[in-house]
Order: sequence, then C-alpha cells, then structure tokens
Amino acid sequence: MSTPTPEPQRLFDLYRRLRDHFGYAPDWWPGSPFDIFVTAVLVQQCDWATAWEALGRLHESGLSSLDDLAAADEDTLADTIRPVAFHATKAERLRSLCRYVVRRHGSVANLLARNRETPVVRGELLSLPGIGEETADAMLSFAGQHPRFVVDAYARRAFMRIGGFGGDRDWWFRAPYHELHDLFYDAIRAELPRYGRCGLNSQAPGFTAALRDVHAQLTELGKHHCLKSAPRCRGQGVAGWKGYFHCVDHCRDGACTECPLWEVCETGGGAA
Ligand code: SF4
Repeated sequence: MSTPTPEPQRLFDLYRRLRDHFGYAPDWWPGSPFDIFVTAVLVQQCDWATAWEALGRLHESGLSSLDDLAAADEDTLADTIRPVAFHATKAERLRSLCRYVVRRHGSVANLLARNRETPVVRGELLSLPGIGEETADAMLSFAGQHPRFVVDAYARRAFMRIGGFGGDRDWWFRAPYHELHDLFYDAIRAELPRYGRCGLNSQAPGFTAALRDVHAQLTELGKHHCLKSAPRCRGQGVAGWKGYFHCVDHCRDGACTECPLWEVCETGGGAA
C-alpha cells in the first residue's frame, strides 16, 4: 500500500474552499473544558446532536461539574444520558474518569493545562479506560489548547474521495491514526501563516486554532455533503440542526447548490 504525498499547499486550498462555504466559528465545539471533556466521551459511536442533548440533560439534572459526576449514582447517571449509544457503559466510564481527574488534578483545566507537555498528557489520557486516540486528541485540542489534529472517519472518507494526492486511495482508510495525524499536522504547520491570514479568532494559539478549524471544516463537509452513502456533490447539502452546528444557515432554502470541493474532487467529477 503506497502512501499519498502530502501537499501542504493543496490542503490549504481545500481548507480555503471549505472555509468560504461553511464560515468560521471559534467556538465550533462549544462549552467549558468540562463540557468538552464530557461530550468527547458521549459522542463516541453516537451523533453530535444526541451527545449535545445528553450534556443538556446532565446540566438540567444538576450534574454539571466534575465533582457532581464523580459522586453521581451510576444508575441515575446512565438514565440521564440515556439518549446516547452505550449509555450504561459511558456512565460508568464518565464517573470513573471524573473520579480520576478529581483525585489527580482537581479539574479538567489542570489535567489539560497548556504548560503540561502534550505527549505526557496524551499518554495519561490514553492510559484511561474508554479514551482512544481520537477522543484524547479532541480533549487535548478543544478542551485544552494543545496542538493535536483530530483524525476521524469524516477526514478519512473525504480524502479517500477527493483523490489527487498520489498513493493508494485505500490508504486514507487503512493508515494508522498516527500516520494520518502527522500528515495533517505537518502540512498545516508548513502553511500556518496562510491559515492565520484567513482569520483564526480564537483564544487558542494560532497552530492549535488552525488544527481545530481544519477538523471542524472536514466534519461540516462530512455532515452536509460528503455523506457516507450518496454524497451530495452537485446538489444542496443536508441542512444543519439549529443549535448543534455553526453553519445552521448553510444548505437551507436553496442557499447551497453543490459541495465546495466539487471542482477539485476526483470522485465528485469536477476534477476529472
Ligand atoms: S465532491 Fe462529492 S465526493 Fe467529493 S468531497 Fe464533495 S461530496 Fe465528497
């Protein structure tokens, strides 16, 4: 299986097209570090809207802090997050994670403090039950301000379809997480001034803000146009759910006529 060649300039061009289409939201993953820490677990094998609804149910039930979750009755917690997939397992994990963070660090902010070395924090997260690489990087980047890129199925699917990077298309699906992470990380860093000139109005450092937004844009692409089956290359995308996605006005009322990458995507046909 041959590896595609990363082309930082082309990746930036794709980003620019996505950004022009979807816009920019500095708080794309909203909430406090605690909220992001919790939703990063809730969203596993589950859609964002359901995870966000479950977070709302936690807040409404008074389970709105690390200490609250650490002390919660497990059945009550499971019932509160019932809308999410595997709610009983996640309740057990969340309670145990919160107990660990309370005991060792006192707060999510302390656990993910920017002055802690990223590999050390990442290693600690990965040692905890229920936290894999994608979840760890989501916590590091969005709840902390660590420079990590979140690799997910949306990114793998989009790049397999976009093509034109050489190598085997299958590589995007089969490559180990760390290889994909490093490809995006290096390519974004190589063009960082250009990302910065797009305006990354975030409290996070510029590199982290760029890594966050490339992930955000690819997620929006996957939710609106590059669907798992029947991608909407030349048609209106799927409308967002108000309150859950920053581009709620996108793909509504005829505002959108095609995927922003159609012209440069080998699968969509524009680049053929
Ligand atoms: S043109 Fe079609 S296949 Fe290509 S990225 Fe867009 S939705 Fe996906």
